[in-house]
Amino acid sequence: MRKTHKFLLMVILATIIIIYNIFFYNEPNGFTIMLDPGHGGVESADKGAHKEGIDESDLNDKVTSILAKKLKRKGYKVLYSRKPYKEEEEVSLSKRTKRANEKMPDLFLSIHHDSGKKNNRGYTVYYSSYKHNLDSDDLYMTYGSEKYPFIREELNDDGNSSFYYEKDGEIKDSRGLSGFIIKDESPCKEAKQSKKAALSVGKSMSELDYIYGFKKKNHSVLVNDFRVLRDTNMPSILIECGFISNHEELENLQNKKNQNKLAQKILEGVNKYFNVRN
Ligand SMILES: [Zn+2]
Repeated sequence: MRKTHKFLLMVILATIIIIYNIFFYNEPNGFTIMLDPGHGGVESADKGAHKEGIDESDLNDKVTSILAKKLKRKGYKVLYSRKPYKEEEEVSLSKRTKRANEKMPDLFLSIHHDSGKKNNRGYTVYYSSYKHNLDSDDLYMTYGSEKYPFIREELNDDGNSSFYYEKDGEIKDSRGLSGFIIKDESPCKEAKQSKKAALSVGKSMSELDYIYGFKKKNHSVLVNDFRVLRDTNMPSILIECGFISNHEELENLQNKKNQNKLAQKILEGVNKYFNVRN
């Protein structure tokens, strides 16, 4: 081979490597995130809320897959509690939390879309101060403006829980009650980290231009004991991306540009939490 040919070949090779590095290689940043697209799976599965012909789980899958791409590009290892768009059996909440607790990602991130009164609108980021498997000290139950000492949670065979609390010196169970939340007065490290992650993502999402926070315009971060938050043994957050029961908001949430903005803001909030550069 002539010298000039050899040189040319090397230049071409180097260019290919540089292009590959720029566009395809994502240097691992050492953090693993498990994404949890709410509901969905096979045709017969629970699809979450259903409004104007749109299934919540479809929107959850869409946002999850855009977010997954962005996370991978930043070097995160992405796992799923249920793969978006992939036909498989319905993945129960127990199975989702079991998958998370087996893999122990650095963050568990659940994606949902809300449904409620017609004029409700806005996103919410949730975390739990109560971590069922990790910390049973200083637990209490809030019910409206009431507050009761919380005794224990028992997982039933059907995958649901029974909650026991103390009222007027007696142990009661929560059957028949709804809207109560179990909280922890002295949250464990994983719960504190969950709050930190939720605040970081909530703050980043407040920069979105097509949607506001649900409870407070700029700061819709709330505590709740959702199953996937209280049963996961690592920092975990759940994002309700907006209300599909609101006609205008549903249109905004279906818009591709907005979905991309949303995933970008979630990514930036996650980056901030992990101290990864945007
Ligand atoms: Zn949902």
